[in-house]
Amino acid sequence: MAPKVYNRGILSDYLPSLIGNTSAELEAIAVELGESKFRGRQLASWLYQKNAQSFEEMRDLPAAFRKTLAEKYQISPLRIADHRHSTDDVDKLLVHRGDDQVFECVLLPYKDRVSCCVSTQIGCPMGCTFCATGMGGFDRNLTVAEIVGQYLLLQFISPRRVSHLVFMGMGEPLLNYDNLVKAMKILHDEIGLSYRHLTVSTVGLVPQIKLLAKEDLPIHLALSLHSPFDEVRDKLMPVNHKWPVREVVGAMKSYQRATGRKITFEYLLIKDVNDTADQARELANLVKGVPCVVNLIPFNWVDTGYGFARPTKERVQAFRNALEGARVNVTERTERGHDIAAACGQLAGQHEGRFGKKTLRVL
Ligand code: SAH
Ligand code: SF4
Repeated sequence: MAPKVYNRGILSDYLPSLIGNTSAELEAIAVELGESKFRGRQLASWLYQKNAQSFEEMRDLPAAFRKTLAEKYQISPLRIADHRHSTDDVDKLLVHRGDDQVFECVLLPYKDRVSCCVSTQIGCPMGCTFCATGMGGFDRNLTVAEIVGQYLLLQFISPRRVSHLVFMGMGEPLLNYDNLVKAMKILHDEIGLSYRHLTVSTVGLVPQIKLLAKEDLPIHLALSLHSPFDEVRDKLMPVNHKWPVREVVGAMKSYQRATGRKITFEYLLIKDVNDTADQARELANLVKGVPCVVNLIPFNWVDTGYGFARPTKERVQAFRNALEGARVNVTERTERGHDIAAACGQLAGQHEGRFGKKTLRVL
């Protein structure tokens, strides 16, 4: 079999991309170029079902139409700047759209499924004090094409079907609300992913959680809670000053009732900061009776200047026992991809010094 070749063209860098459009929008594009709607549907199938990387592949489209398309559009805006494979089978792609702003996405194969983790922003403005992405500041929101494009690239390099997707890469998904929702619709309607296999993780933006509850998409929502106490959460996540624990947990409970979906509370464990017995007790009280899971994430070390450390295994176990003793469902996130800096909270677009602007343009 011929080796897979990534779409690395540079000539079409500034053309609008076809992915990111719905079937109806692709039909409209076909009609505008003098073709029938049917050609638009064929195009959608090439882009989303067959994951075509070039116009040449689209053999059942008339050659003249393919030529016009190639003059006016590119398939995907994304270029790969770097591709790393970890010792525990995680792939991390560093991508860009032809400029010097890079962002990351990760492929996570498991025994029973393949998942992926994608970014929604370049950088993040939320400033959480434990997060490498937050440290680097914020550049911009990603477009629908850039969000969907990450999935398609990861599916392209994966030998197995990528059935699950989490929005836990760089950025706060709910700050890029419209593009997030359209990307999820494309992932579902065009690519065929189940809404139940899409997870949005949020720092806790209350108005957007309320909006999302009204969208009627049975996706999985996760709140990064990280402490049941405002004094502690304030220090970890500046957003808590605006929407404190009671308010954001209240919004999550309303979301749960409105959608009937089980929700997740993510709980990053930092030694001596939020891993104490009183916080386990208060957390259990806070989520009592809610159909939910608490997902424990031992801190992945990044130097954010606050001296945070990962708790010992015994301490994590004690926290877990306290929650389970109070009949809370608990899972623990296993860290993967550490050797290629692909673990949670480590996605920071580590490119400075390695990829100058010029290098990126020609990759
Ligand atoms: N902005 C969203 C989603 C991206 S972050 C959010 O904050 O929820 C995805 C997850 O990684 C969040 O739960 C976040 O708290 C966690 N995270 C950030 N930095 C981390 C670190 N150093 N170690 C472990 N998890 C971290
Ligand atoms: Fe942004 Fe999430 Fe990192 Fe906080 S944890 S800075 S919200 S990416």
